[in-house]
Amino acid sequence: MYKMSTDELRELYRELILDHARSPRHFGKLPEVTHSADGLNPLCGDKLKLYLRIGDDDRIQDAAFEGSGCAISVASASLLTDTIIGMRPTEAQSFAGALIHRLTGKQTNVELGKLRALEGVREFPSRIKCATLAWHAMNSAIRQDKVPASTE
Ligand code: ZN
Repeated sequence: MYKMSTDELRELYRELILDHARSPRHFGKLPEVTHSADGLNPLCGDKLKLYLRIGDDDRIQDAAFEGSGCAISVASASLLTDTIIGMRPTEAQSFAGALIHRLTGKQTNVELGKLRALEGVREFPSRIKCATLAWHAMNSAIRQDKVPASTE
């Protein structure tokens, strides 16, 4: 299998973050929300609200987010909505688990696709929570937690 070099990964990371931070996908409110959660990253000041519509067929039919934060947190939330639409909630949770694992420096066998580029954040340890915030919020939304997801 082709392995990306560190330089390629770094370049991909930069492009992906810039692209999604400049024009976030699925930004805004969602009609017919079934699940939602707030996410907070007090260290950086990132705040977002994640909306999901989970259908009777146990699929995530739609996802969207609102909020404000740094480029990494916005890009990661945008990538999240792009990725999880069409997944079963349990699939989305294991994907989130694998991604959070990878971003915090652990190994996983799950194929992350283009989200592998987010690994670039590992070079900036103080920003890892910016990248994982939306994924924690998604887990909270699926679990229907009563308290906001916080990185602290
Ligand atoms: Zn941030």
